[in-house]
Amino acid sequence: MTERLVDEGDLDPRYFGCCDNPGFEPLQCPACGHLMVNCYECGTVFPDLNRLDAAQREQDEATTPLRSCPNCHLDFGTEPHNALRSRVTWNDWTATWTGRRLVNCYPFPPAWLAGELPGTRSCDGTYCTYHYRSLPPIPASLLDETLSWLRRQPLAETYDSRWSSSQVAAQSAFDAQRSSLIEAARQAGYELPVAFLNFVFSRDALTRLRSPTDCYYSCDTQLVPCKMPMGGHFLRFLTDSQDCVSWHLYLHPQFGACVVFTEVPFEEWGDDDWPHAADRIRFCAETFLEFAARTWLEDELWFRLKEAQPLTPEMQQYLHHYTQGLDGLWSWDEEEW
Ligand SMILES: [Zn+2]
Ligand SMILES: [Zn+2]
Repeated sequence: MTERLVDEGDLDPRYFGCCDNPGFEPLQCPACGHLMVNCYECGTVFPDLNRLDAAQREQDEATTPLRSCPNCHLDFGTEPHNALRSRVTWNDWTATWTGRRLVNCYPFPPAWLAGELPGTRSCDGTYCTYHYRSLPPIPASLLDETLSWLRRQPLAETYDSRWSSSQVAAQSAFDAQRSSLIEAARQAGYELPVAFLNFVFSRDALTRLRSPTDCYYSCDTQLVPCKMPMGGHFLRFLTDSQDCVSWHLYLHPQFGACVVFTEVPFEEWGDDDWPHAADRIRFCAETFLEFAARTWLEDELWFRLKEAQPLTPEMQQYLHHYTQGLDGLWSWDEEEW
């Protein structure tokens, strides 16, 4: 079987905004693997995919980036296109967040629903919708499905009197629910992600969380079938205190167990609603672990920035993405999807 290559149709033109009729060529440095994009219609080169606002025009000889690799400085010579790898594999392209966030590989339009990061990312309401691709990568230390990063945190009630562990159920109640849900998922043909089980059914994990909007982790006991032609199932695990939004695992053989959110809970959906499902469901994380880590980081950042408490290195790294402008200049409203 030949390996799938990244095709120009995989790259969403709205992220690049170089011209009205773009034609994209994915490029990769043969030495270090650095990813770039060239628009062959208008001659614009994107030498750094984390900075799409820093595009360069080919006629700008002095600064043409394709003479050498912006990452490893390999000299591409006078015929850069001969030196560069223009047949980039899907695996290479999606191996990192840099490439992955620019391709459409999700079951629903992507967006991130969250509040402000005080002083860094603004929001004029309780929640705002941010471009999924504008988000910082998750620090590697948090991508640990045993959740050691969370278990290192003190119980929320020990440093914030607004939280009480008594609001979280006993572990025995979680254990019973966990077993029956694992069985229900198996009957539908899914294995629930380890990080999900470690998080949502753990009193030890949940008592270390604070939520600025009083969202609460509470897992449904049943999977909800997705009545779209592609099938799959939803499993609600997090709900806003005002019931204005809920987050679900979307279980599907092709998409794994990604995370989506919807404003109207699925039990209120009628048969007339399903044909419009793609307008009402947003993809927001590739994995539960990514979702949980990002949500924890952003929630804790909200409290700590508001209350001038110290930040961990991971939190500083997360904010650095915004203060350095790595969220990019995204020129359309996510609601237009
Ligand atoms: Zn162009
Ligand atoms: Zn290179």
